[in-house]
Amino acid sequence: MSELGARYQAILDRVAAAAEASSRSLDEVTLVVVTKNHPHQLVLDLLELGASDFGENRDQEAAPKAKDISTQSDKKFNWHFIGQLQSNKVKSVLEYANFLHSLDRPSLLDELQKRTQERSDPLKVFVQVNLTDDPGRGGITPQDLPAFAKRVIQSPGLELVGLMGVGGLEVAPEAEFERLASLSQQLQQLAPQANQLSMGMSGDFEVAIGYGATHLRIGTAITGKRPI
Ligand SMILES: *Cc1c(COP(=O)(O)O)cnc(C)c1O
Repeated sequence: MSELGARYQAILDRVAAAAEASSRSLDEVTLVVVTKNHPHQLVLDLLELGASDFGENRDQEAAPKAKDISTQSDKKFNWHFIGQLQSNKVKSVLEYANFLHSLDRPSLLDELQKRTQERSDPLKVFVQVNLTDDPGRGGITPQDLPAFAKRVIQSPGLELVGLMGVGGLEVAPEAEFERLASLSQQLQQLAPQANQLSMGMSGDFEVAIGYGATHLRIGTAITGKRPI
């Protein structure tokens, strides 16, 4: 087996073990392989290995990659946009992304509403929550979440699927995952279908599974060091 294949399989095994340990069904957990800073060939190789969900955080890199892959493979898969999205890149991202994990501010929502009005298949979005005291980290604060979520729910071109969090470096991931899971419970009173949780990366995905993560964003543990 290739090194990539071995690393991918090792992560699948760890995901399965963590799901089992917390009595969760594997069907509830989507592994999004973060392929940023890697050439499109890596995505083609992962498609051959059976991967079906890929994450990118910069449109400048993701757009040409998505185009290259669409001309070289007819496999079905999902693109997840996971990075901060500038409003002037929304139009481009909408051409390939199936999921947006980083809906983090009202101005981005304005732009998305404008550009998804005519869509027949709504863009699936996670609202990114800021769990720190630092407004510079981006994300909707827990206080603003209910009103913001209502606006998303009322957008015909968008489908609110849940919440996304990026663990802070200063704090233990457990506290943030627990907080996000509890905000998710509150959100589900408003929007029962919005029960997905995008949390957990290479260093903490097993912990995240224990707190109910449904979308793991795993890069380096599968792809290795980033060459570009
Ligand atoms: C890069 C990135 C990841 C993946 O990080 P790894 O530590 O390589 O697994 C996850 N989420 C976001 C938002 C990222 O930008």
